[in-house]
Amino acid sequence: MPSKYMIHTKQTPHRFKAVTESGIIAWEEGCLKCAVCVKKGCVYGVYEDRGLDTRQMMDSIDNQCMNCLRCVQGCPKELIHKSVNPEYKAIGDSYWTPDIVAKLWYQAETGKIPVSGAGYPGPFSGPGFDSMWTDMSEIVRPTRDGIHGREYISTAIDLGKTPNHLTFNENGDLERDLHPLIDIPLPIIMRNPDFGSLSEETLKGWAMAARGLGTFMALPGNMITEALEDFRSSLMPLIGPGPQEIDKGNGAIRLLEVPWSEGWEKAVDMARQQSSSAQVSIRLPLHEGVEKKVISLVASGISIIHLEATPHGRATDHASLFLKDGIRSVHQALVEEGIRDGMTLLASGGLSMAEHVAKSIICGADGVMVDFPILIALECRMCRRCTKGLSCPVEIEAAPSSWVASRVINLVGAWQNQLLEMMGAMGIRDVRRLRGEVGRAMFFEELDRTTFESMGKVEEGCELE
Ligand code: SF4
Ligand code: SF4
Repeated sequence: MPSKYMIHTKQTPHRFKAVTESGIIAWEEGCLKCAVCVKKGCVYGVYEDRGLDTRQMMDSIDNQCMNCLRCVQGCPKELIHKSVNPEYKAIGDSYWTPDIVAKLWYQAETGKIPVSGAGYPGPFSGPGFDSMWTDMSEIVRPTRDGIHGREYISTAIDLGKTPNHLTFNENGDLERDLHPLIDIPLPIIMRNPDFGSLSEETLKGWAMAARGLGTFMALPGNMITEALEDFRSSLMPLIGPGPQEIDKGNGAIRLLEVPWSEGWEKAVDMARQQSSSAQVSIRLPLHEGVEKKVISLVASGISIIHLEATPHGRATDHASLFLKDGIRSVHQALVEEGIRDGMTLLASGGLSMAEHVAKSIICGADGVMVDFPILIALECRMCRRCTKGLSCPVEIEAAPSSWVASRVINLVGAWQNQLLEMMGAMGIRDVRRLRGEVGRAMFFEELDRTTFESMGKVEEGCELE
């Protein structure tokens, strides 16, 4: 049994006060001047410690209030109210919602799994991964606990091609060399997001986190500066078309990526000339009919394919094709061709929650590449000011690399624990066994169809009896 892989997290506070979901509004008009004001009764003392953060122009009360509502209920003139904070509502967009962003901040700060209390308050079903439910039928088995170590659950995956069978010569030696594999202890690779107020310190912090976690940080080759020299074996450079020097300096590059184009063979040859020992991944945008391209790439000897959806988890040409469906159909096509084990399938785009890792793998990916969550871990508010050349409200570019690394390790630690929790509840002890295990999930569209299609079509204007 391999030694147990543990991610060591530690509390890493925000550098700025987080935007809270709600704020206190307390009116003075009509105050009865009670002998003992309810504000004095706040057990957290938030009114006594109240102050204005002049850097952020924020009232400290909103961050300290624990939402017990004691003061709201206790004021005889009902002068104290809790109201939804419009600044919170404005965070992100329809996909990167304020609640998702706030949960990512929490995980990056504490390294812990967010707990929402009893019951599930979310929607019954929704688009993309929200229409997929995982099977937790073994949740009652307390011994199957990967987090607290009662049972070893492996999250390690291999990158590359695994052989269908082994052949030995008369002496019992292997007849041919095995295809080189890279193993990483968790099915998560980090990648540079499309935007962000970044500096060398940010990239160094991400690279430090990748090395500490034993995984890779993918980024454009031209972003690898001297500051990242020591981390080369944990970097996955993206090599564009044209001649490039990629393997100078200490430590060989082990994994690199080439974007798919009509002349991808030439780009791969050039990349291999630069770094002959590196494994090559082809990045392929998710679009309708992508399965054929994947099959032809595998037939041409490509052993790692990265299926990339948009930041909202959809195909580039078809908004109704979600990443989960794209992964399923590519996986199924590879299985039908009998070449599934001849390659590693990575998926990216719109992966915003820990559950998306397990769901992507159930759909057929070997691992995932995570981008915006590692930026949100640094307090990003997804305001996109940096895309317009405006200043970043949380000055991400000024954050020291040690803080960046610690926040990202916390986030990935919380995600790995959630993966262990799900696998423990499913009764699966190796994440490689979870790949394509669609029997461990239910898909709303399929349930809807199988349940109701036998009832026939209901014509418009037809009355049901
Ligand atoms: S809601 Fe509770 S924690 Fe918040 S200010 Fe009022 S008494 Fe204090
Ligand atoms: S907070 Fe806004 S400006 Fe700063 S990195 Fe995030 S999106 Fe860009």
